[in-house]
Amino acid sequence: MTNDVKSNIISAGNSPKHTTETVTSVHYWTKTLLSFRCTRPPGYQFTPGQFARLGLVTESGEIVSRAYSVTSAPNETELEFFLILVPNGPFSALMCNLRSGDQIFVEKFSYGFMTTDRFVDGEDLWMLATGTGLGPFISILQDPSVWKRFRNLVLVHCVRNTEELAYQPLLQSLPQRPALAEGGAQLVLIPATTRDTDTTGPRHLHARITTILENGALESTAGRPITVDSSRVMICGNPDMITATRNILYQRGMRPCRKAVPGQFVTEDYW
Ligand SMILES: Cc1cc2nc3c(=O)[nH]c(=O)nc-3n(C[C@H](O)[C@H](O)[C@H](O)COP(=O)(O)OP(=O)(O)OC[C@H]3O[C@@H](n4cnc5c(N)ncnc54)[C@H](O)[C@@H]3O)c2cc1C
Repeated sequence: MTNDVKSNIISAGNSPKHTTETVTSVHYWTKTLLSFRCTRPPGYQFTPGQFARLGLVTESGEIVSRAYSVTSAPNETELEFFLILVPNGPFSALMCNLRSGDQIFVEKFSYGFMTTDRFVDGEDLWMLATGTGLGPFISILQDPSVWKRFRNLVLVHCVRNTEELAYQPLLQSLPQRPALAEGGAQLVLIPATTRDTDTTGPRHLHARITTILENGALESTAGRPITVDSSRVMICGNPDMITATRNILYQRGMRPCRKAVPGQFVTEDYW
């Protein structure tokens, strides 16, 4: 067990920081990928792109706590999360038994800095996700202010196999929501798979994010270039992908957003 995992395990009942919420639905996309919804703690605030800390109790009464990006829209009455069950993961071992009506701890505060308000300028928002790194973008894309703030919204979701391309019906329906459409932005969805050759449409690419960035396929498929002046990039998921993508963006003259220094990209490593 890593130190990180140890530090996440705290004694049951010792935390004044969480509320107890009720799971209202559980939906499996594949055997190991699921979304679930739970009641929203009274007064719970988050900015799309932020994450919650969730806790489940082991048989011996310990709470195992992990970070999970909120996928729900900011105005929803429930909270939704999109997650993976990983082999031998302490939280995954508890999560796989989760059913509607079960209880889950939600820390009272939301966390994280992968939010669109980090960008002081720019016209196009590029969202690059691997696997469950899609989660924060589901929330961000349901926020009407994002559709007003940016002219183009490009979402890239890279997974191994097509069956892991979760949330496609919701994503495809977003431009039909009046509250989003009136913002005026154009949404471009680019699914990418690395292991199968199935195709879900003309924009479906078959390579890693770093490959399609380097060989130009991403920009030609999106129909616009990534530039320092116009593009703002959010990157979420696998830390190796994030490091490699960050290096590519650096080579193109882009810089991370810092507190006092506006930049062109923000990132969130999931492990
Ligand atoms: C800020 C933040 C936000 C996060 N948001 C999400 C989210 O929205 N959805 C989600 O599924 N996970 C998310 N995670 C990861 C999550 O907190 C857990 O680590 C993960 O769900 C597994 O927990 P575990 O206790 O079962 O295994 P852990 O012991 O925590 O992890 C074991 C190993 O599993 C792998 N792993 C962990 N998370 C993932 C993942 N998401 N995809 C692929 N492999 C992984 C890594 O190799 C890791 O070392 C987030 C992590 C951080 C730091």
